[in-house]
Amino acid sequence: MPAAELAAHGRGRADEGHGGDAAFVRKVHLRPGSILTRPLREGKGEQVNKEKRGVPLHIDQALANRVLACINEDEVVAFLRRLIQAPSVNPPGDVREAIAVCEAPLREAGFSIRLAQLAPEKPNLIAEYGGDGPVLCLNAHVDVVPTGELSAWKHAPFAADVEDGRVYGRGAGDDKASVTAQIMAGIALARSGVPLKGRLVITTVADEEVGGPAGTALLVDEKLVTPDWVIVGEQTRNQICLGEKGFIGVRITTHGVAAHGGLPSEGVNAIEAMARIIVALSDQLWPELERRTHPNFRPSSASINMISGGVKENVVPDRCQIHIDRRLVPGEQPADALAEIEAIAREAVAQVPGASVVVEGSVEQRLATFNSPESPVVQAMLAANRSLGLSEELTGFSMATDGRFFASAGYPTIIYGPGDPRIAHIPDEWVGIDEVLAATRAYALTALALLGPEGAAPGQ
Ligand SMILES: [Zn+2]
Repeated sequence: MPAAELAAHGRGRADEGHGGDAAFVRKVHLRPGSILTRPLREGKGEQVNKEKRGVPLHIDQALANRVLACINEDEVVAFLRRLIQAPSVNPPGDVREAIAVCEAPLREAGFSIRLAQLAPEKPNLIAEYGGDGPVLCLNAHVDVVPTGELSAWKHAPFAADVEDGRVYGRGAGDDKASVTAQIMAGIALARSGVPLKGRLVITTVADEEVGGPAGTALLVDEKLVTPDWVIVGEQTRNQICLGEKGFIGVRITTHGVAAHGGLPSEGVNAIEAMARIIVALSDQLWPELERRTHPNFRPSSASINMISGGVKENVVPDRCQIHIDRRLVPGEQPADALAEIEAIAREAVAQVPGASVVVEGSVEQRLATFNSPESPVVQAMLAANRSLGLSEELTGFSMATDGRFFASAGYPTIIYGPGDPRIAHIPDEWVGIDEVLAATRAYALTALALLGPEGAAPGQ
């Protein structure tokens, strides 16, 4: 998941006169083709397979066994360790060494390889195998967040220590475990020699942790991949996520009147005005968001994550500012989320004579994404998980992923991968070897179900 989800992508045009800060605006005018306004067309795969929707998928057991027999546990662990040992910290995001680690075995297994890049140090790998039929894209990122204080790590971040069934290191879970499982699944499929009528495209990308303009966004915008289905590998603990939450950042600024700290009645205290807003939001809006649920997602949410205000201990503050991180479930609109916060803020500030408030939304705004449970990619992944004894629960992802680029371009997209999101981005990040192996098997069987010969195809 990206480290800086608030980063503006320059995908919207800011309103005039917002004070020179491109990240927040009073109103957003979005260019056609921006993430928010790009029409959610029905995916190519949905049309191709419309007549087969909703039919439970069958995976041919003999073919499945043939593919699973080509997954070598030691090889999977060795590959993951080698990948962790190729540091790819972002920023600066140089992934050349990590991409080279990925490219070699795929080429050896018979994949055709392309590289796409906006910058030389940020190559994206596109590895393809199979026939000319429907296309399944597996996507995961090799860049990782910085290590933070090294003294906080017991296991050196790039040593890839193996201990008690876990592999430790920066990126072990986020996202090199998913990269490993996708590549090892593709290689097993190729090695099995099972003929594919469809095509497997593995995209191993740069730049995800800083928002993805040189990574997945490049592949989607330039149509370097045009898949029928997409599985984005992130830490879902091998549960099937039908989509990810939407987002809007909200910045609230209260304005008062400065005065000497010894004569507070001469001023208007902007911090005290903000305090009323904070209490009103947590009393009125937070419980309401808890009740705003969706069958596959955690409830809607908001969190005040930054506050600043005041100039000196003995001066009545004339300004205070907070930042709210607002996450949306499917069906919620960013503009509505902004409007309901603004209404509460205005009502609260009205109780403080002389104070005023400005409420702004981030330029970066996203609708939640949601893929139908009936779609073939979900049914294939369910069949794979079922046959492996893994979770059959259909959930939603609470954080942002590169899946948003595919989903907003209309490609049916789900999120699935080994690891726990709570262990991402922290010291001594780790992933369970069992989980990585299970994900490898699940990706392989899903690809077999969607792309394999007649008899293992969707709805057959
Ligand atoms: Zn990630």
